[in-house]
Amino acid sequence: MTPEQQAAADRWQAFLDKIEERLEAIVAEADAGIKGIAAAHPHEILPILNALSGLDHRVRQLLKRIEEVWDGKAGRAFGGSNRGIEMKEESTLRFNHRWQKARTTWLADIARAAHQDGLKELEEPVDCSGCGAPIPRQVTGSTISITCEYCNAVNQVAPPAALRNFFHYGVDHLAEEAALEMRHETERLRLRIETWQRANSWAPVPSDHRQKWEAMQRAHLQRQANEKARLLGRPVNQDWVESRMKLSVAHEF
Ligand SMILES: [Zn+2]
Repeated sequence: MTPEQQAAADRWQAFLDKIEERLEAIVAEADAGIKGIAAAHPHEILPILNALSGLDHRVRQLLKRIEEVWDGKAGRAFGGSNRGIEMKEESTLRFNHRWQKARTTWLADIARAAHQDGLKELEEPVDCSGCGAPIPRQVTGSTISITCEYCNAVNQVAPPAALRNFFHYGVDHLAEEAALEMRHETERLRLRIETWQRANSWAPVPSDHRQKWEAMQRAHLQRQANEKARLLGRPVNQDWVESRMKLSVAHEF
């Protein structure tokens, strides 16, 4: 790089670092807010999702700022060098991953709390509608029929709200969390492949790179599906893995 390009790179890096610091500040500030909402509305996901969508908006504004500054003048300072755009893409990916990690951790923590609270509530027996005898509870997210062993009355027993929520969406959040680092690793590889392509006049992706990416993509989807199946106590939804795989291959290459 020429001295001018080096100076442009230094300025650009300082700007990108500042944007990433702003994101850290949003995460730190939101952390207390999200936990406060979770405490005020135990086992309700809607208030949390509303807060997150507000935060998503602020985060997108920051990302937009990167593109604006790049298009405005930062991009031209690099002359013919790819370095500036590479720095932009690397920073943007780190930025997205940081936000996904924060979001996923909040949602997974809420899922874990719902699971624990739900199991605790199950310790309180339900009284049989026929004879009043205590009916043992089961770990499930749905209302189930339980026949009383004393009077044969059929009782419709609803799960605690916390467990219902855990099985409805908590398991998805935990499964996403379990696969997140693998997913990010896959996306970093995808970016390295794209960087290589840009440096090589957008040559087709070498098949070994592509195979490696596909294997990693499949591995993280499989991890997510396996974890969800384990939490639900059900067979792995292999169709989901295959359909997501098909979509992502079509989208990425
Ligand atoms: Zn009974």
